[in-house]
Amino acid sequence: MNIFELLAGEDNHKALVTPEGSALTYKQLRENIVELVSQLNSFGLQRGERIAIAMSNGVPMVLTFLAAALCGTAAPLNPKYKQEEFAFYYEDTQAKALITLPDVPEAAIAAATPDMIHIHAKVTENGTLSFELVKTASGEGESLGNQEFPDSDDVAMILHTSGTTSRPKRVPIRHRNLIASANNIVDAYSLSAVDKTLCFMPLFHIHGLVGCMLATLASGGTLVIPDGFNALSFWKLVETYKPTWYSAAPTMHQTILARASRNEAIIKANRFRFIRSSSAPLPPVIIEQMEATLNAPVLESYSMTEAAHLMATNPLPPKVRKPGMVGYGFGVEVGIMDEDGNLLSQGSLGEVVVKGPNVIDGYENNPQANATTFVNGWFRTGDQGTLDADGYLRLTGRIKELINRGGEKISPLEVDDILLRHPAVAEALAFAVPHKSLGEDIHAAVVLKGETSEKELLAYCATILADFKLPNQIHILDELPRGATGKLQRLNMAKLLKIETEHR
Ligand code: ATP
Ligand code: MG
Repeated sequence: MNIFELLAGEDNHKALVTPEGSALTYKQLRENIVELVSQLNSFGLQRGERIAIAMSNGVPMVLTFLAAALCGTAAPLNPKYKQEEFAFYYEDTQAKALITLPDVPEAAIAAATPDMIHIHAKVTENGTLSFELVKTASGEGESLGNQEFPDSDDVAMILHTSGTTSRPKRVPIRHRNLIASANNIVDAYSLSAVDKTLCFMPLFHIHGLVGCMLATLASGGTLVIPDGFNALSFWKLVETYKPTWYSAAPTMHQTILARASRNEAIIKANRFRFIRSSSAPLPPVIIEQMEATLNAPVLESYSMTEAAHLMATNPLPPKVRKPGMVGYGFGVEVGIMDEDGNLLSQGSLGEVVVKGPNVIDGYENNPQANATTFVNGWFRTGDQGTLDADGYLRLTGRIKELINRGGEKISPLEVDDILLRHPAVAEALAFAVPHKSLGEDIHAAVVLKGETSEKELLAYCATILADFKLPNQIHILDELPRGATGKLQRLNMAKLLKIETEHR
């Protein structure tokens, strides 16, 4: 078994659609992939070899990813990386080849080592893709005849975690992990051939690759695939293609929501079956606003790279969705574990652990992380949470991000949520700052959308939050600093804002 078997849509049904309207059917998709894998073999590439890809989103990226994962191991990289970053990832993944669109991105090409071959991906007249070898490696690579497609145990792709809480970890994801994950997503959202997915999440992260792309192809549905996310083109694409759903990270949902009032006619004409959110917490107040404005159920779900994306999700109606909770496991067992590796009973607070065929067997080249992360058959996520009586999971923050103020553990998410409920606050992030006697104290940073002051916000928090959870200071900023994947950098905030150790 390999991911080729997921691509089982009807011959004449549209699989991939560009914003300009050109399309490839499932038959063309399958034939093109077989041809592309054979071209990669003819350049000397084979099973087990890592193929770096540096391309922006689009039909060529989808085809290149699938071909690379079915020839060797795909290593998709952010095309916006700088030369040094590309050099690091080539070395780290031991890349044998680089595939780009003709001549871009320059930094990716400049960073390639003499032992790597360079391949251009070119769109042909009928809209399919063709590879062209533009640079051979210094050691000769022999042309190979058509090789066998990989097995379920072969590593289909190498990704890195986002690096929110530590250095990015290298994650090998096998064909069987991808197949399990894509099928779980199809089940969770009842995806089928009638679905049309607007896919704008980056295709170098698991959310876009599996949550949007593979899940859609596994259901025989259609992917509409622009070259990235942009709030203006988003509404135009919705108007033209009438997608049945899309999946995005919370910051994008907020951008979409901000422009919704100008696009009421489009919202009326196109009813989404559902809208999905994942990758970071979606504040309940935003869910309320989205459901009221966009007239569709918003399904928050919980995902990570090491689980090939989905771990838990709120279900489609008529089943109950619970704002502030990330739903329950689909094809994935979810438990709560204490520090000693014991599973805890319902209602207890502890580390979220998961188990399932989608979860990786281990990080590459990281025995230390493997020893602490894989415990009694479970994978420790590093997230803290509780399960309610119906098996729904509430996340209370990352274990590394919990604030310990003189022994009182504070979930920064709770403070974020209170601040976000204030009408003048657009974004909020509570974070720890070092404190001489308490160990850690709590501050918050906010971006405003209305008139208020630090003093007024502190007084407002004091009406809702227990004293020990009250931020000592609230910093009003023009924007919140984010990491490379758009995630907020809670652990880095004190440093980024140059806050010194507090004595008070
Ligand atoms: P690193 O592991 O390097 O610190 P990372 O964990 O951010 O980086 P990813 O695999 O991209 O890397 O993200 C997975 C994490 O994202 C989860 O462990 C969880 O903390 C967070 N996450 C995902 N979905 C949600 C959600 N719906 N609500 C809250 N957090 C979420
Ligand atoms: Mg992580």
